[in-house]
Amino acid sequence: MEFSGEYANFNNSEINRTMKNYRVNKTTANNPHNNHEVHNDSCSFYNLIVSYEYLGSYTNCQDAITEAIKRGYSKIDGCIECCDECHKA
Ligand SMILES: [Zn+2]
Repeated sequence: MEFSGEYANFNNSEINRTMKNYRVNKTTANNPHNNHEVHNDSCSFYNLIVSYEYLGSYTNCQDAITEAIKRGYSKIDGCIECCDECHKA
């Protein structure tokens, strides 16, 4: 991969560091508290969720959970592995 300059290089790495794709699990079967778990693409579960809704790309898990609430999910919890700061139960 080539960068056209220092500034472009900085921009690319900044985006990679801060933005992650988020998914909410449509099923609650795997959660002991019947919550819909939210995961990001750094998580080992991300590609294992069979039934999910894509929430978008965010810099933090709280924004992803806010979006999930907007879409009608009421019982939500951040994944303990990838969204530790949003993990409640
Ligand atoms: Zn996760």
